[in-house]
Amino acid sequence: MVQRLTYRRRLSYNTKSNRVKVVKTPGGKLIYQYIKKRGTLPKCGDCKVPLHGIKASRPKQRMSMSKRLKTVSRTYGGSRCPKCVRLRIVRAFLIEEQRIVAMVMKSKKTTDDKQQAKPTTK
Ligand SMILES: [Zn+2]
Repeated sequence: MVQRLTYRRRLSYNTKSNRVKVVKTPGGKLIYQYIKKRGTLPKCGDCKVPLHGIKASRPKQRMSMSKRLKTVSRTYGGSRCPKCVRLRIVRAFLIEEQRIVAMVMKSKKTTDDKQQAKPTTK
């Protein structure tokens, strides 16, 4: 006996949201089962690498998902990859360090000038 498979919904076009697979029911009947679209993993905003430790999901699924599934406990977790975070931290530290060095040099120069100026006035 040849079974005729028909769509269970009215949409009959082969679109992305109308993908089906054939499934055998306990009663031995073959039916179409609708497949949901595959979720995507968030990517690093800097280097576009897919992030680890996060569940692939569709936007609507994300609304009902807990935070644990959508992020990792790190600064920029769920947004940037660990390498990029490290780079950001190191860069910020070096810029800060450079600024401090520049400030120290400037203050040293002014104190040197004063010390050089003092003996001549006294
Ligand atoms: Zn990255």
